[in-house]
Amino acid sequence: MQQSRKAETPLRWPYSISTPPSIPSLTHTLTHSKHLITCIFFCFYSPEFFLSLSLHFYSSMMAQAHSALSQITFAVYPCNSDSSFRRSILKTNNVRFHDKSWISVSDFDLKTKNVVHSRSQRILCFSVQQASKPKVGVSPLLLEDPKEPPMHLYKPKEPYSATIVSVERLVGPKAPGETCHIVIDHGGNVPYWEGQSYGVIPPGENPKKPGSPNNVRLYSIASTRYGDSFDGKTASFCVRRAVYYDPDTGKEDPSKQGVCSNFLCDSKPGDKVKITGPSGKIMLLPEDNPKATHIMIATGTGVAPYRAYLRRMFMESVPTFKFGGLAWLFLGVANTDSLLYDDEFSQYLRDYPDNFRYDRALSREQKNKNGGKMYVQDKIEEYSDEIFKLLDTGAHIYFCGLKGMMPGIQDTLKRVAEQRGESWDEKLSQLKKNKQWHVEVY
Ligand code: FAD
Repeated sequence: MQQSRKAETPLRWPYSISTPPSIPSLTHTLTHSKHLITCIFFCFYSPEFFLSLSLHFYSSMMAQAHSALSQITFAVYPCNSDSSFRRSILKTNNVRFHDKSWISVSDFDLKTKNVVHSRSQRILCFSVQQASKPKVGVSPLLLEDPKEPPMHLYKPKEPYSATIVSVERLVGPKAPGETCHIVIDHGGNVPYWEGQSYGVIPPGENPKKPGSPNNVRLYSIASTRYGDSFDGKTASFCVRRAVYYDPDTGKEDPSKQGVCSNFLCDSKPGDKVKITGPSGKIMLLPEDNPKATHIMIATGTGVAPYRAYLRRMFMESVPTFKFGGLAWLFLGVANTDSLLYDDEFSQYLRDYPDNFRYDRALSREQKNKNGGKMYVQDKIEEYSDEIFKLLDTGAHIYFCGLKGMMPGIQDTLKRVAEQRGESWDEKLSQLKKNKQWHVEVY
């Protein structure tokens, strides 16, 4: 899962190099990589360079194109443009191998409006990616049939007795605290939809009501309805151990540690766990428009529902949901070692660069523009223009994680709105009215 905690730098777009590579070496790179390669090179010393590059690329690709490489994306855009502009150009200049629309240089859909004629301001971008990433088959597909999400199938008085399948530490040694990925087997008896939660009743007595069982604790489900085993029989949690530090001594006091999170993180395969639910409709993934934009903001374990969304969008083959929109994840954690599911998300970035964006705020490692700690709201501010434009065109925005994240985020959004001459209160009420605003904090 999160085995390698090395700071892997995902292939971000644009990927720039300061020296233009030689044409043969570029072609070699483009034609021999199995994965997405995005090359941007500052150039053009002359239009002839561009033409020779295109022709060389064309002839070389004809000779060497590997079957795995079937899409080339081509764009010319100004260096200083914002990335949404660059993305939109990338999307409008798709050239596919299989339909041969790239057959001659003149057929490149080079719209003059996209070409900035100042030499110092031109960038040529080639992006080659695999045709379609093989997705994982899921079953049973009848889980797609109901029109409404399952709700409260098991209640606290009669919980379902599920079985722990695995417990895996998700974070590296330098992460403050511990977060675990926990898979439980519900045998297909407690179906749920992405974005819902289960309740867990930890063993033992309720300390406030002796003789009664412990209270239910809710956990967002971090897997799709098919579970991590793709068979509809499991659900996964992303749980952070709640520990208590004595404010006077600064030392951990195990007698006051969180009951349920520690029970879950300490459990072993085969152990029984009482679950209730599923519950929650706020964080359901709206699927009526498969081309929609979803902006997902998380702190820590708040990433759980987004892991489920992203697996549904990019990992699973679901005949009734073919995602072709944009998913943009902002994840705030303390440091690189605390990143959750980073390998999974980085892979989507490589495989679906036009459909996925991933920005991380590492509060203890990165600085914001004022020299302070980098929190998710600082990342939101950095991209506020794009975010506001996307919201204006119907994007969904989600917030999940610790309650404490919301005031800082709301302040930032309000400030940005004011700078843009908009009323945040009006905008927020419109977003809520349009069902674009989804918040689940705890
Ligand atoms: P509790 O036993 O309930 O204790 C709560 C806190 O009080 C702990 O920090 C504990 O250290 C402290 N405490 C205990 N005794 C004392 C004392 N005597 N004096 C002072 N402090 C004390 N959590 C996740 O990790 N992942 C999720 O995906 C997730 N999803 C959620 C979704 C929803 C919709 C909601 C509402 C909550 C979610 N939570 C999630 C939070 C989760 O429900 C629990 O609240 C959390 O795990 C803590 O529960 P606990 O039983 O471990 O701690």
